[in-house]
Amino acid sequence: MTHLNHTHDPAARSWVDSANQPGCDFPIQNLPFAVFRHHSGNEPWRGGVAIGDQVIDLARVAVAGCLDGLAHEAALAGAHPQLNELMALGPKAWQALRQGLFALLQDGAEGEAVQALRGCLTPQVAVEYTLPVRVANYTDFYTSIHHARNVGQFIRPDEPLTPNFQWLPIAYHGRASSVVVSGTAFHRPWGQALPPGASAPVHGPCARLDYELEMAIYVGPGNALGEPVPLARAEGHIFGMGLLNDWSARDHQFWEMAPLGPFLGKNFCTSVSPWVVTMEALAPFRVPAVERPATDPQPLPYLDGPGNRAHGGVDVQLAVGLETAQHRRQALPPAELSRTSFRHQYWTVAQMLAQHTVGGCNLQSGDLLGTGTISGPTPQEAGALVELSHAGTQPLRLAETGEERAFLADGDTVILRGWCERPGAARIGFGECRGTVLPAHAPTAAG
Ligand code: MN
Repeated sequence: MTHLNHTHDPAARSWVDSANQPGCDFPIQNLPFAVFRHHSGNEPWRGGVAIGDQVIDLARVAVAGCLDGLAHEAALAGAHPQLNELMALGPKAWQALRQGLFALLQDGAEGEAVQALRGCLTPQVAVEYTLPVRVANYTDFYTSIHHARNVGQFIRPDEPLTPNFQWLPIAYHGRASSVVVSGTAFHRPWGQALPPGASAPVHGPCARLDYELEMAIYVGPGNALGEPVPLARAEGHIFGMGLLNDWSARDHQFWEMAPLGPFLGKNFCTSVSPWVVTMEALAPFRVPAVERPATDPQPLPYLDGPGNRAHGGVDVQLAVGLETAQHRRQALPPAELSRTSFRHQYWTVAQMLAQHTVGGCNLQSGDLLGTGTISGPTPQEAGALVELSHAGTQPLRLAETGEERAFLADGDTVILRGWCERPGAARIGFGECRGTVLPAHAPTAAG
């Protein structure tokens, strides 16, 4: 885990005034990365760093000469239309770039390099974002014990947890091609489902469309095929984290997933936030891994270590908002469906990465790992509608509009937000991850 240094000083301020405003997601202590371009014009996508309500254009930084040495090399790598190259450089280069930008952005910084950096800023309102990485591989874990228990109760009331859950971070290999950036709308998927009591499945638009509140983990330097990454070194292979919504067609998923796991129920769309917060920025918010009762299975030695126990967790506050078509028509704020923290996750990000590679699997820079749905210990902290509505039997009532939701309706926009906050540290945020459900395509005539 990254140690604290001057870039985490809660008293630090920037000459970019908006970065100093209370509640700002992007103060000088954060400096997250995205890939962006101006709304207008045909310029190429390039990496950028958020400061207040501005984006620092890394393509311009790379030619402006405001940085030198390793920081300059990192800015060059970050100027590409995806951040895979920057992620491949490793923690020393990421830290050099963070410290270089921090020095130039600090209140009172002066000189030619600071003037040059001023010319590299663009207002965030003037830009659009694309995926932060070229996603070659996407794996989705299932590491919240509260989510696993909540969902397991619907399927196996006597034994909600599968026997493997407390022994290893379980996952399935997901679909990389349908990962999209926040703001991308998608059509309600078609698929097969077995209606309750029926003996044969039907083919039709998803009737139980759901979201999953997750975090994204972005792999930094990869590992060679056949060379596992030990737990103690796992975080050196993690660049940072973002927000992720694993949209799920529950009716399709539950019919198809035995015995090989999710397929069409999960492969039609996965949304990620544009901003990736580095592990270094998250350093002030590290917490001990979830303590396991002595009577519970303890992690096997390759998934256990003092560092992971002491600070393997991350306290990221998370909230899910729902904006229906009616909210938009009446200009009402989104309904808040739940809040929780990533600190409750049963397996840590380091354990997920160590497990992924222990058999020899090679991770590549920019690979995307989903944490699995993040549900906290109380029912109100559930990270999916299937839990909040008790498998659809108890629809939620939205206070603002009086509408009911057991699952998502066409026109619904789900908005995930994340932030870190504690006394003695500067608050940092992840921005948001949003996506809107469009109606299913009309049935095709061809048979
Ligand atoms: Mn998931």
